[in-house]
Amino acid sequence: MRIECERLHGDLVDRAQHYEEAERAAGIYAATHPVPEMPVLHDGERVCLGCADPISPARVKACPMAVRCRECQARHERKTKFT
Ligand SMILES: [Zn+2]
Repeated sequence: MRIECERLHGDLVDRAQHYEEAERAAGIYAATHPVPEMPVLHDGERVCLGCADPISPARVKACPMAVRCRECQARHERKTKFT
């Protein structure tokens, strides 16, 4: 019976360790792979994630993955820059 208990305990420790490692790996992944921001559409028009103003078609054409207007993008880049 005692052996049985020790085995169960060992299993739990293994599982806890496994979860801990998985969680750490997920954390590292999330930190190094930011979720890509998806362009927002409103009535078929691209809308800025920052100020909700429509993004000009010229800007969308020049930068198809743009999710912000020029001003908001500049502000966003200043904010996220770590240097
Ligand atoms: Zn904006």
